[in-house]
Amino acid sequence: MGSHIKRRIGDGLKGSASRPVWRYSISLAVALISFAVLMSCGRSGKRPVACDDGKYIFRFVVMGTEAELTIATTDRDEAQRAADAARQALDRVNGLMSDYNPASDIGRLNRSEPGKALAIDRATFDVLKNSVSFTARTDNAFDITYTPLRRLWRKCAERGSLPDEAELAAARALIGTDKLLLDETACTAALAAAGMEIDLGGIAKGYGVDLAADAMRRCGIKGGIVNVGGNMRLIGANPSGAGWRVGVLDPERPDEQGHFLTTIEARDAAVSTSGNYHRFFEIGGRRYSHIIDPRTGRPADNVPSATVIAPDGMTADALSTAISVAGAKKGLELVESFDGVEALIIEKSEGTMKEYRSSGFAKFEAAEKKTLAHQADGGNENMSGGKR
Ligand code: ADP
Ligand code: MG
Repeated sequence: MGSHIKRRIGDGLKGSASRPVWRYSISLAVALISFAVLMSCGRSGKRPVACDDGKYIFRFVVMGTEAELTIATTDRDEAQRAADAARQALDRVNGLMSDYNPASDIGRLNRSEPGKALAIDRATFDVLKNSVSFTARTDNAFDITYTPLRRLWRKCAERGSLPDEAELAAARALIGTDKLLLDETACTAALAAAGMEIDLGGIAKGYGVDLAADAMRRCGIKGGIVNVGGNMRLIGANPSGAGWRVGVLDPERPDEQGHFLTTIEARDAAVSTSGNYHRFFEIGGRRYSHIIDPRTGRPADNVPSATVIAPDGMTADALSTAISVAGAKKGLELVESFDGVEALIIEKSEGTMKEYRSSGFAKFEAAEKKTLAHQADGGNENMSGGKR
């Protein structure tokens, strides 16, 4: 346990490379077995991997990470239908928004001629539009056009030396949501300058869990959780009637089973954690975060963990990334400026980790904070933490 497999910077929506090999093999094996089972029974989705206490659990790989669906029902067919629908929603978001897929809207946009308007799906348009609004509201900490910096730092990791000022300036000149041209009526997008690129890795999973949760609700599900790599959307309540419990991983001991910084108890809310303890790159033996401050051009390394509770998954995802960049003080101000948003921020200063909570965060903390083991609800081990 605890072996940190180095991940290349900016793997965006992809990312199995970051997973420890054994984990990946297990996922792969599970995927292959499930596929074989699927073929034999002719279903379009995976079968549940577990059923306990009125909850069905489904796991699969999507958006370059692990997804887990918890579906509160005693009807297996209903659970299967809801899981299929949720999975379809996530596959659709990935198919539209992964920058690794040249045929996706973002893949096409990133390869388009400068200034040329490209017709895109309304869903992609909505995420782009919301991203731009998060840029404005986060004082440019969250910026999906930061990607030339990802490219630069990836190059630096390969050659083993830090970027110089000229390189940083050249990359920063290509960044700015003013150069992402959106036409709402025509539903098109264009990148104004050659060399620009978009990366929705800090927001698309959150948007995906929202759509997946809606899809599950439309199938009649009243309670459940959609978790895509630590971006979670909680639907209704736990079968016991209480809120769903979500353990927040401790960035100092992220691989310790059953140990959490705190436990969130909530219903009908989204919870996202951004963390850099599983995803980082190295230059000269020093670790750097995969989240980059678009304003300075440098990796945002002071916030090992930022957990956001929000009414929707897209907001929780984008703000957790933004807080990683903004730091604790600005991050808390940011959170207070949004209705219904709370955060727990861990900031590193002079070698020690300090916890910062927004004014209403404690209301969501379960009495038994540090461990989820042996819960009355069946030891629900939902976790939100830095993605592998
Ligand atoms: P994940 O769920 O993939 O761990 P986070 O929500 O923590 O992601 O966001 C990190 C991802 O956001 C990075 O991998 C990258 O794709 C993207 N990103 C990095 N820096 C920024 C930034 N300043 N603004 C917007 N997105 C960013
Ligand atoms: Mg995010």
